Amino acid sequence: MAEICPRCGLPKDLCVCDVLDKETEAKIKISTKKAKFNKFVTIVEGISADDIERTMKSLKRILACGGTYKDGYIELQGEHKLNTKNALISIGYKDTNIEIV
Ligand SMILES: [Zn+2]
Repeated sequence: MAEICPRCGLPKDLCVCDVLDKETEAKIKISTKKAKFNKFVTIVEGISADDIERTMKSLKRILACGGTYKDGYIELQGEHKLNTKNALISIGYKDTNIEIV
């Protein structure tokens, strides 16, 4: 007997609830914080691990700034929340999934 998903009532192998959860969770958050020497960094959270390196490289190129990525987030030198959002949209991320905090 196949297991039945309690949310949609479909057998587990047909159920897509987990996939839908992932998609709705795929919110990208852009924030800034103060780093060393009173400089700001822009933090981009919510990029999937598969895309994070490529996305970081694109952002660095578009924004012409330094940057790095760590566990689950991208850190860009400087304060550019709005430009980061526009850059993400220009490389294919959905406007509605990007939140500036
Ligand atoms: Zn389900």
